[in-house]
Amino acid sequence: MPSKSKGKLTHVSDFISLKGRLTVTKNGVVIKDARKIIYPGSGGDDNWWNIKQLLEQVDEAFNIFEEKHPNKTAVFVFDQSSAHASHGDGALNAFTMNASEGGAAIPQRDTYYPPECTKKRLIGQVQQLNWERERTVGKGKKKKTIIELVPKGIKMILAERGCLPISQKLPAKCSPKCANSLTYPPKSTNTPCCLARILANHEDFFRQKSALEELLLSR
Ligand SMILES: [Zn+2]
Repeated sequence: MPSKSKGKLTHVSDFISLKGRLTVTKNGVVIKDARKIIYPGSGGDDNWWNIKQLLEQVDEAFNIFEEKHPNKTAVFVFDQSSAHASHGDGALNAFTMNASEGGAAIPQRDTYYPPECTKKRLIGQVQQLNWERERTVGKGKKKKTIIELVPKGIKMILAERGCLPISQKLPAKCSPKCANSLTYPPKSTNTPCCLARILANHEDFFRQKSALEELLLSR
């Protein structure tokens, strides 16, 4: 049976400057190009466009800009695609954590006790967001012990900060989403709606930069 598909999808991601596309040319031939073209979906060979590909492209685009315009400052403008605001690996995000420890949640990087911490002597010190647990893997001669990171979960992180509400019975996360928009510091009129929102409103979680911003600052 021939394929019912009428073709394949083409996805183009590019940077346009006042002088046209962002490229480096030699004798009129493009030798470096910030544009990325992929063919995702059925019939195509590539994965769907994702944050990893975007970061690789942006890094290359920065390299091309610096080669083409040495000692100049670039102003890159991104549209509000969700990929452009997404976070990198290990970024702080209260809403992807579980209420309690473990589970399928991905470990997030360590942080610091923010000003919201009610145990004043801890403010500014490192707060680990994961337990380090020993686990035995493999069998027979291949048996070995590894150290595994187990996410502590929202409740423990808030408890360590002295910010876990005890008298109020709050859900771990609002469903489908919190009624008030996230601001920092939170408006005094906003009462906490869920545990994840309390944590999201702490300085370190609120100030978490997007993967794009982190890439830019790391250069
Ligand atoms: Zn909420």
